[in-house]
Amino acid sequence: MDLTKVIRKNILALAPYSCARDEFKGEASVFIDANESPYENGVNRYPDPLQHEVKVLLSQLKKVSEVQIFLGNGSDEAIDLVYRIFCEPRIDNVVAIAPSYGMYKVCADVNDVEYRSASLTDDFQLDLSAISSKVDDKTKVLWICSPNNPSGNAFSLNELEELVRCYNNLVVVVDEAYIDFSDKGTMLSLLDKYDNLIVLQTFSKAWGQAAIRCGIAYASPEIIMYFNRVKYPYNINVLTQQAAIRALSQPQVHDRHVEEILSGREILRILLGSLPIVEHIYPSDANFLLVRVKIQGMDAAKSADHVYHYLQNKGIIVRNRTRVHLCQGCLRITVGTPEENSTLYETLKTI
Ligand SMILES: *Cc1c(COP(=O)(O)O)cnc(C)c1O
Repeated sequence: MDLTKVIRKNILALAPYSCARDEFKGEASVFIDANESPYENGVNRYPDPLQHEVKVLLSQLKKVSEVQIFLGNGSDEAIDLVYRIFCEPRIDNVVAIAPSYGMYKVCADVNDVEYRSASLTDDFQLDLSAISSKVDDKTKVLWICSPNNPSGNAFSLNELEELVRCYNNLVVVVDEAYIDFSDKGTMLSLLDKYDNLIVLQTFSKAWGQAAIRCGIAYASPEIIMYFNRVKYPYNINVLTQQAAIRALSQPQVHDRHVEEILSGREILRILLGSLPIVEHIYPSDANFLLVRVKIQGMDAAKSADHVYHYLQNKGIIVRNRTRVHLCQGCLRITVGTPEENSTLYETLKTI
């Protein structure tokens, strides 16, 4: 891919802000270059702008190079940066599968970039002709989420690779926020093969670190260089970097929690499947189930609203997705602890 054809002119020309800590590489004992407070309290110094320690650990764990990693203030920052780097407002467009994660559209609107939805099939599979009918010469980005939120299913690596290969003159972003819960595999091993691929992952789900706000974009060193140029200099604060390092140093905790969520998911599937108000539970490669409910005498949307409000009144909050494309009658339910799963089940029984 010729990057100069997909990157906005102003971004290609950008001279990055150079912070004090960017310019100095080496050993020193007196730091009087950044107008910080000299009184040590653990947070008086600016953090590492390129988060070297976090990236070393991620690089070992994920078998990618450090220069293929960008860390953002949540995946949200990476999503927003994709628009700011590649999409000329009111000229370029992006194409995304529907239904999918809401932030792709929010960031398109904020950046004044046209957002085109390509419907999945009724059973949430990729519809290649729907995608190709939306792509034109002003399309810069294709958004794919796998495992997809809110449908829960992952797409096959073969199909995803086909998209990356076929749309080699635009950027294909595969959002893998839920990849740890899937057995379909990550796209990360394809990074070296395709320089138009961006893979998003996050500390917010399987790593159990939603509050630290840390998302990850993996891409070619060239694309990562533009992410680094456009981001705020100190976008990841030191407390977040420390928490990320702590989490990455205990992969066995991550692995145990993933195992527990996966067995919880199958137990929850069986429990919910036994309820007469549950009409369908979609296959899931994530840490949630998309569940279609139906209450006698009510249409799909009414049924979902009724169950949603019933649970809410009992202090149980699920995500009502009934007004989302292809999700009529559906609630999205996150797998909780075994106790939370059974509380949900016992409460649903009383409807
Ligand atoms: C939860 C989620 C994320 C994570 O976003 P963060 O900003 O990293 O918390 C990203 N993508 C999808 C599809 C999600 O559902």
